Amino acid sequence: MRIGVAGAGLLGRVLAVQLGASGHEVHVHDPASGPQERGATGWTAAGMLSPLAELETADERVFRWGQRSIELWPGILRRLPQPVEFRCDGSLLVAHREDLGAARRVVDLLARKAPAGHQAQDLAPKELAQLEPSLKAGLHAWLLPGEGQIHTVQAMQALQAGALDTTWHWSSSVSEVLPRCLRTATGDERYDWVFDVRGLGARPQLPVRGVRGEIFWLQAPGLGLRRPVRLLHARHRVYLVPREPDIVVVGASEIEGEDRSPVSVRSTVELLAAACSILPPLAEARIVHTESNLRPALPDNQPLLEHAPGLVRINGLFRHGWLIAPGLVESALECLA
Ligand SMILES: Cc1cc2nc3c(=O)[nH]c(=O)nc-3n(C[C@H](O)[C@H](O)[C@H](O)COP(=O)(O)OP(=O)(O)OC[C@H]3O[C@@H](n4cnc5c(N)ncnc54)[C@H](O)[C@@H]3O)c2cc1C
Repeated sequence: MRIGVAGAGLLGRVLAVQLGASGHEVHVHDPASGPQERGATGWTAAGMLSPLAELETADERVFRWGQRSIELWPGILRRLPQPVEFRCDGSLLVAHREDLGAARRVVDLLARKAPAGHQAQDLAPKELAQLEPSLKAGLHAWLLPGEGQIHTVQAMQALQAGALDTTWHWSSSVSEVLPRCLRTATGDERYDWVFDVRGLGARPQLPVRGVRGEIFWLQAPGLGLRRPVRLLHARHRVYLVPREPDIVVVGASEIEGEDRSPVSVRSTVELLAAACSILPPLAEARIVHTESNLRPALPDNQPLLEHAPGLVRINGLFRHGWLIAPGLVESALECLA
C-alpha cells in the first residue's frame, strides 16, 4: 500500500521503519526543515523503559505495550544502519530511609496493579552495593527486573536513516488528517491509508495538551552507574539514566503548560539536588546540556489508538512514548491488516 504519515517524531519514525519492512511505500510529512531538527519530543526524552514503574499513574495497556516493546526493540534496532545504545538489566527504585513509608505505598500500589509475576524486588543493602556501588549507602532499594533504557538521540537518527521505502517530506505541515488523505499547504495528498501521529500538532482534531519537561545531561567520568534509577519522594521526584560513555541524564520536571523556554533555576536546583542526594559524586559532574520540551497528553493522560477505514490516529503518549511505541505501532498495524 501507499501510506501517508503525518508527523516524523518518535511514532512517525517507528511507523516508517515497521511499514517499510512490511513492503509498503511510506510518505512521512513534517514541518521540520530536515531529519536532524530537534523539535519533536522524542529527541528530548531520557529513554527510560519502565513498564512496572509507570504503572503508578498509567493504565494496564501501557504496561502491556511496554512489556511488548521491550521484546520488540532489539529486533527493530538490529535492522538499523547505526548502533543504538539499549540495555535491559533492570531499573531501580530508591528511597531515603526517612521517606520509606511513602515509598512503600508506591511499591504496594505497583504490586496491586501489576499482573502476577511482575513485582518489584526488595534489595538488601549488600545487594544494592553490588549492583550499583556508586549509589549512596543507606538507601532503600527495589529492583524492577527486565526494565531498561534506550539512547533516544541515537535512536531518532537511526530510525530515520533505516526506514526502507520511505520518502521524507520535510517542511510539509499537515493541517488536517482525513481518511486516505493528508491536507497540506500544497493541496490534498491521497494515500491508501494515513496515520495521524502529529503529537501536539493534531489540534484541534484531538484535545491534546503539552506538559513541559526539563532534562539535564551531566558528564561524570568514572561513575560506573549501569541502570536507570528513580527516587521515590513525596515532592522531589527525579530519575537518573546512564548513557555511554560517561553521561547521566537527569530528569524530569512535569509542569502543566506549554512553555518551551530554557530550563528554570527552580527545576535545576530541585532536580539536581535530589539527584546528588542519591548519587553524591554527581556534585562534581559537569552540566553539558539542558533541554525542555512538551509531552503530548490527552485529558486522561493515557494513550489513544483510534482507527477508521483508511485512517489511524495515535496520540497522548505523554511520558511513555519510548516505552510503548513499538508495541502500540504493532497494535495499530493489526488494524491495517
Ligand atoms: C523531558 C522528557 C522526558 C521524557 N522521558 C521519557 C522516558 O524516559 N521514557 C519514555 O518512554 N518517554 C519519555 N518521554 C515522552 C516521549 O518523549 C513522548 O511520549 C514521545 O516523544 C511522543 O512521541 P510522538 O511521536 O507522539 O510525538 P513527537 O515525538 O513530539 O512527534 C510529533 C511529530 O509531529 C510533528 N508535527 C507537529 N505538527 C505537525 C503537522 N501539522 N503536520 C505534520 N507533522 C507535525 C512534529 O514536528 C513532530 O516531529 C519524555 C518526554 C520529555 C519531554
